Amino acid sequence: MSLEGLQPIVEGVGVVGSPLIMAGPCSAETEEQTLSTARRLAMGGVKVFRAGIWKPRTKPGGFEGIGKEGLQWLKRVKEETGMLVATEVAMRRHVEEALEAGVDILWIGARTSANPFAVQEIADALKDAGAEDVAVLVKNPVNPDLELWIGALERLYNAGIRRLGAIHRGFSFYGKSIYRNPPQWHIPIELHRRIPELPIVVDPSHMGGKRELVGPLCQQALDMKFTGLMIESHCTPDEAWSDKNQQVTPEVLKIILSSLVLRNSEQNTESLQQLRQQIDRVDTELLDLYNRRMEISREIGKYKKEHSMPVVQESRYDDLIKSRVAAAVQMGMSADFMKTVLQAIHEESVRQQIEILNKN
Ligand code: PEP
Ligand code: MN
Repeated sequence: MSLEGLQPIVEGVGVVGSPLIMAGPCSAETEEQTLSTARRLAMGGVKVFRAGIWKPRTKPGGFEGIGKEGLQWLKRVKEETGMLVATEVAMRRHVEEALEAGVDILWIGARTSANPFAVQEIADALKDAGAEDVAVLVKNPVNPDLELWIGALERLYNAGIRRLGAIHRGFSFYGKSIYRNPPQWHIPIELHRRIPELPIVVDPSHMGGKRELVGPLCQQALDMKFTGLMIESHCTPDEAWSDKNQQVTPEVLKIILSSLVLRNSEQNTESLQQLRQQIDRVDTELLDLYNRRMEISREIGKYKKEHSMPVVQESRYDDLIKSRVAAAVQMGMSADFMKTVLQAIHEESVRQQIEILNKN
């Protein structure tokens, strides 16, 4: 698919070697906190300031954002520091009030982009306001659904938005993980493959959910050549009214940013090609191994059918996962990775065995 005629989110940045950096607090809380954070970020060289004015909370009773009043603080940030300002919008009224206050970049949050009615309402509001030049970034929906994400982007494109981009902030899940929202990098990579001209900004803060993961996730994002980073930064993170565990001070942010390595991704040396050939060979062997494993699995399926046994024996499955994961961790792979691989293999085995059971 191609979204023709897209413009950069911010002129001159977001190209290789010059990532787009957006930073600021999860929420604008007070005028003092907003301005103090903004001034310190500006001193560190940040050019785009983010702050949530309306906050979607999973449960009622949390801080739901300061609302309209905070837009005046963003205006002051712009006037005083010269930074561009960005905030989240979730409905027509937010769009109208943010545009009225001169907000430069709007983003649609993960809970909102999962709702096509809300996204369409935002797109219509932008069209009605004739605001084609405002930049709009669409966070991935909370659930890992690429079509839903692309659908939201298309609604904005169809409303005439050309400064369009995506924000990858990881995906919700149920269970245990070191991440708040595991990245599932293959999804934004597939988005890039499908719409190569679309800028993709990575949000390591909501992905990691804790300060110590921000730096490593920023580096991973740049290593994968994403367009930029949106990072939560607060003047006094421990006192933040929302998302305090993942916010870093502007000074820590400056250290993180200056330690990032920008790799020259255009280089394609001979030794790299040789390594890639090795990867190709290993992948071929892996495919063959998977195939052999499935053949055995189908044999087991036949056996189970003849002896009227159920397809899944839970204790066997648990033992298998435990021993393989332990071995993988010993070799330096992550437990999460190995579990995901084994679960996928197991699902396919079960599918094939059920096929055999249902065959006459
Ligand atoms: C945010 O950026 O503060 C936010 C609410 O993020 P998300 O929509 O990714 O949860
Ligand atoms: Mn937040």
